[in-house]
Amino acid sequence: MPSQHKSQRYVVVGAGPVGSLAALYAAKRGFQVEIYELRADLRDPSTTPLNFTKSINLALSERGITAIKHANEPALLKSVMDSTIPMRGRMIHGRNAATGELYEAAQDYDVHGRAINAADRGGLNKQLLDCLADMPNVRFFFHHKLTGADFRRQKAWFEDRSSSTPKETEISFDFMIGADGAHSAARYHMMKYTQMDYQQEYIGTLWCEFQIMPRPGKTATDNSPDSMFKISPNHLHIWPGKRFMFIAIPSEDGTFTCTLFMPDEGYAKLDADPSQVPAFFDEYFPGVTDLIPPTELVASFKQNPHLPLISIKCTPYHFGSSGVIIGDAAHAMVPFYGQGMNAGLEDVRILFETLDKHSVTPSSTPQSRAAALAEYTATRTPDAHAINDLALANYVEMRASVLSRTYQLRKSLEEFLSVHVPQLGWHTKYSRVSFSNERYSHVIARSEYQGRMLSRMFVAVLLPAVAGVAWLVARYAGAARRGGGGGGVFQPVLDLVSRGLARVGLRR
Ligand code: FAD
Repeated sequence: MPSQHKSQRYVVVGAGPVGSLAALYAAKRGFQVEIYELRADLRDPSTTPLNFTKSINLALSERGITAIKHANEPALLKSVMDSTIPMRGRMIHGRNAATGELYEAAQDYDVHGRAINAADRGGLNKQLLDCLADMPNVRFFFHHKLTGADFRRQKAWFEDRSSSTPKETEISFDFMIGADGAHSAARYHMMKYTQMDYQQEYIGTLWCEFQIMPRPGKTATDNSPDSMFKISPNHLHIWPGKRFMFIAIPSEDGTFTCTLFMPDEGYAKLDADPSQVPAFFDEYFPGVTDLIPPTELVASFKQNPHLPLISIKCTPYHFGSSGVIIGDAAHAMVPFYGQGMNAGLEDVRILFETLDKHSVTPSSTPQSRAAALAEYTATRTPDAHAINDLALANYVEMRASVLSRTYQLRKSLEEFLSVHVPQLGWHTKYSRVSFSNERYSHVIARSEYQGRMLSRMFVAVLLPAVAGVAWLVARYAGAARRGGGGGGVFQPVLDLVSRGLARVGLRR
């Protein structure tokens, strides 16, 4: 029997960002922590990150930061934040249909000026591993692949690949935390012990990485012509292509990691003739070929993998007192809300808060952990499912809605109310997701409520007003055409209203 006392063995499977943070939370609470990781130690310079050409840049926002903060390692938090770049909004790139000129249009994420942060995923992971390496109750097992787990007998099997002849090792554990990503072996084995509902969807879109290199010989880090950054470093750049999307996120070294999201059939077409890639970019993502030379575009398209996007929902996340799955293992999502890792880090905070609430310590009984895990599954499932849905919906927003007037009008109204009538507690959906720790399921409920209220306000107040103004405009415009003197003293006001209506798309 695994022990229930001081030496309680917490086994973490997967040393990605989520598993590493979970190991840190467990170690800080005095458990004996063992981390088993399929790959080599990321901190080893010869290691190439799985699936990624370099290391993907991602957006670290409030939930991830809060989770790292709650690890109570101020030096870790500082080093993580020091190596991020704040992105205060989206920069939409396009070409003016009338003049043919390229344009950039900034859209701040938050009316209160808050920003999300561009972070190097590998760098963040390394900082977490460094922090763990200093802890006496943490042991690493790299090159170890989970191949089997018996959650009843609390035993697990790993293939030890650290030598040229892989061998199987058996271990026992008190508690296993499965943080082994979207294709989780921990989840697969847990399913044999619990009646897990499971749903996965490939969304038919692939992603491929590209790079915008820094301006040679430049060192400034602002948005000036002397900057090493070719485009603003403080924005997440989007080239919305309706059915496709190209985005760029800054890195500290002046490069931008870019991602092309496109349906499978689009990739198939370009795969057949990659020399068409620059022309494709010129058509759908104007200006990119000025930032990435066509030869580099073609080379990246050919060399870098074209990877699928998967969305996974399941529940429960635990079995008895012996195991739990977190992060992508529990809820892999499409990356369009920039929340996959943030939600996974938040899992860690919520899981350990729940364990603390049930007084789970190195000397407590398994019963208290079982009660905590049941509560964790019950509270976390609606939230994880909610962010999966939000992430899917945000794909449409990023590649198309950002250009829509209705979307911009709603954003402006909600921001206006957030600033001028704060007692209403109105915020945009984006700011609730990215700048708060509000439960994801509440975010959806609040956003739907605000949407309903706005529609009612529109019908009750704006619609009659707009109809009245439209009637006046029509009447006076008709009079003017008949030579009747137009709107007289009201004419400037009517012109203004008319232009306003045209701007929000209610009149052409
Ligand atoms: P992973 O990072 O997948 O780590 C799992 C670890 O488990 C790996 O180290 C793996 O080697 C190991 N492992 C796997 N199988 C086994 C096994 N059998 N035995 C032992 N070890 C094993 N998230 C954001 O928050 N913001 C963003 O802006 C963002 N952008 C993204 C952009 C793209 C293009 C993609 C694809 C994802 C993005 N994400 C983003 C999501 C984010 O990358 C993931 O949610 C996050 O990496 C999940 O962390 P994890 O630790 O749960 O899993």
